[in-house]
Amino acid sequence: MTKLKFYIPLLLAILLLPLLTSASHAARSAKKQIVAETRLSSPAQVLELKHWSNPDYTRISIALERDVIWESHELDKGAGRSGKPGRIFIDLHNAKLGNSTRDITIGDGLLKGVRAALYKPGVVRVVLDTDNIRDYKIFPLSDPARLIIDVRGERRTEISQLENSLTNRVQEPPPAPKSDRITKPVKKQPALSKIRRIVLDPGHGGHDPGAVGHSGLQEKDIVLSIGLKLREKIKDELGLDVVMTRSTDIFIPLEERTAIANKVNADLFVSIHANAAPNRNAAGIETYYLNLAKTEKVAQLAAKENGTSLEKVSTLQAILFDLMANYKLNDSAHLAEEIQKAIYKTAKAKYPDTKNLGVKQGPFYVLVGASMPSILTEVGFLSNTIEEAHLKDPSFHDLTADGILDGIRAYITSLK
Ligand SMILES: [Zn+2]
Repeated sequence: MTKLKFYIPLLLAILLLPLLTSASHAARSAKKQIVAETRLSSPAQVLELKHWSNPDYTRISIALERDVIWESHELDKGAGRSGKPGRIFIDLHNAKLGNSTRDITIGDGLLKGVRAALYKPGVVRVVLDTDNIRDYKIFPLSDPARLIIDVRGERRTEISQLENSLTNRVQEPPPAPKSDRITKPVKKQPALSKIRRIVLDPGHGGHDPGAVGHSGLQEKDIVLSIGLKLREKIKDELGLDVVMTRSTDIFIPLEERTAIANKVNADLFVSIHANAAPNRNAAGIETYYLNLAKTEKVAQLAAKENGTSLEKVSTLQAILFDLMANYKLNDSAHLAEEIQKAIYKTAKAKYPDTKNLGVKQGPFYVLVGASMPSILTEVGFLSNTIEEAHLKDPSFHDLTADGILDGIRAYITSLK
C-alpha cells in the first residue's frame, strides 16, 4: 500500500508530463506577459489583507488591483523553534498600498499577525510574523487578482481533544424525561465515525449566477436549493454537523469557501455545481477531484468554474503539484466515486436516459488547499434543454440531494 501511494504520483507525473510541460511553458509566458504589463502600467494597489484561521491552519488573502510579480523570503530561519521559519515576507513589485489596507492581528499560535508597508518606491512588503508553523504555500489566483498564503502547524492534542468533547456534546441527544429514564435507560450512542462535520458549498451566488440556461434559469439558485435540502438530510439521517459556505444568495470568493472548510475542521467538503457546454447535446452527471486537467474540455470547465481564463488555468496547473502536498488525493477520489455512483443511480431510477460521465480530475480553485477529502460535483447541464427542465424542478433537487446523501453514507460506511 505504501509503495502504491509512492508510485501513484510518479505514474501521474509520467502520464501527464506533456500536459505539465506545456503548462509550465504557459506559466513562463504568462509571467513574461505580466512583467511586460507591470513595466508599462502604474503601480497596482494592494487592496485588502484578510485571514481565516484555527489553531493548526491559517489562510491569508492579499487582494490586489491586478496580477503582480512577487517573491517570497524567510527571515531568521532557524531562529524559531526547531529550525522553522521565524518570519516570512513577500515583496510585491510595481505595487502600492491602497488607502484602506490595514494590518491584521491574528495571534492563533501560528501567526502573530500580517503587516504591509511600502518597502521602497514601487515595492510593497507584506510580512507574516510567525509563531510556530510547520509549512506554508504561497500561490496566486486571478480574476480578481489575489495572493493566497496557506500556513499550517502541528495538530495539537489538547485542541483536538477539546474539539472532540465539544462535538460530542453537540451530538448528544437531549436527556430523556425523568420518568422515562427509570423504565428505559438512555440508549448508548454508537461509536462516532471518523466523519463528524461536513461542509457543503453551493457554487456561485450574489452577482455571480454561474451557468445560465436558455430559459434564464441560474446555476446559483439550483445548487443552493440542492445544498439546503442536503443539509437537512445529512443532519436528520446521518446525524452529522453541517456547515454551509453560503445558505442565501450571496457571493463568497472561492478561496474563502475552502478557508471556511479548513477553519471549521471539516471532515468532508462537497462543492455543488451545474454544468454548461457550447455543445447543447452535452448531458449527464460528473464529479471531480483536484488534479491536473487531462483534456481541453476539463480545462475549459475549470476556467468557467474558477471565473477565469484558460491561460490562468494553465498557470495554476504549472504549480498544482506543489499545492497538492496537503490534498487527500486518494480519499477525495474515493469520495468522488461514491458520490458520482449514488447521484447517477438515484437520477437514473427516475430518468432512465441519464448519462454517467464518471469521475474526473480538474484544477478547481475551490479545492486548492482543502485539508479534507473534497470534491466538486456537476449535477446536470443547464445548456441542455431536457436537463434544464429537470434542473428547474424542485423534486429533481430533492432527488439529487438524496443521491449525494447516499454517496456520503456509502463513503462513511466504507471507512468502517
Ligand atoms: Zn459552477
